[in-house]
Amino acid sequence: MPTLTDIKSDILTLTNEQQINLLNYISEILSLSPVSIQDCREARFSKGKACPHCESHDICKYGTSSGKQRYKCKSCLRTFTDFSKSVLSGSKLPLSYWLEYAKCMILGLSIRHAAEHIEVCVKTSFYMRHRILDAIRLYTGMGHLEGVIEMDETYFAESFKGNHVKSGFTMPRPSRKRGGEVKKRGISSEQVCVLTGLDRQGNIYAELVCKGRMKSSDLSRALDGHIEVGSILCTDSHKSYTQFVEDFELEHKRIESGKRRTDDFYNIQRLNSFHSRLKLWMSRFKGVSTKYLVNYLYWMKWLEYFKNDKEVLKGKSMLLQTVSTQLELNINDYKVRAALYR
Ligand SMILES: [Zn+2]
Repeated sequence: MPTLTDIKSDILTLTNEQQINLLNYISEILSLSPVSIQDCREARFSKGKACPHCESHDICKYGTSSGKQRYKCKSCLRTFTDFSKSVLSGSKLPLSYWLEYAKCMILGLSIRHAAEHIEVCVKTSFYMRHRILDAIRLYTGMGHLEGVIEMDETYFAESFKGNHVKSGFTMPRPSRKRGGEVKKRGISSEQVCVLTGLDRQGNIYAELVCKGRMKSSDLSRALDGHIEVGSILCTDSHKSYTQFVEDFELEHKRIESGKRRTDDFYNIQRLNSFHSRLKLWMSRFKGVSTKYLVNYLYWMKWLEYFKNDKEVLKGKSMLLQTVSTQLELNINDYKVRAALYR
């Protein structure tokens, strides 16, 4: 074990760049990066403090309630706190629990493991996960693709996991085992279609678009307003894209299967690799209910967008994005939730 003096003299032998890297490394391991109410307030009201009910900026402080600052809106006369109409509204858990939970999500922990880690029940863990993901989905948005775009669709078995007969749900067919294989050959109405697109600037599109095989009308509907006119679309040779590229005034590069070469400028290599990561990501959750599939897509999308951020800061970023998003959902909304097709 080297002494502190040894380490100090070793540090002096490093180049400037190495010393900076070392400093960053030490600050990363030492930083606990806690999240304060002030951080949340700044994130939530980054465009100025506004009333969550009517968006008016004409507000004033209005005492405290259970230790939380309250405000009153002079326009609509309603009161609110820093967390009203956000993921944290009504939560009795301290901010530190939500930060730890966000960190569990960065690690991709299961609902059960995350529940054990922060010591809450599985049901609470479930709602924390999906409330965070609902907020992240609204915060991130569907996105916009432009320039050279790689696009392809992929299919997942439709799953009714988590739909309870008690809440008035009727199973359309006998349930498969979790994450089970689709019985019918090829693409059937028992599968749901996820459309994915990547551009060369790193923008990602990943949405649930339809049940069964995708048609060009599904493409037009799902991508309307999310793709730049004049872009160059690289796809496989599937015919559903032909009408779509014409309608949206895109240039089309059809990549014939079997002729894919990595050295071709127009290819769908990045997308194929994205699909592999997506399948692997979904497989860790052992059969995702279709009504929550979109949340899992946004979870992965978030991790892809922030993959180069410092590990220690990711949980905080996720939490601050979450609290800065206006979201009004209560537990009953989750019981009657439907799959989000674009
Ligand atoms: Zn107001």
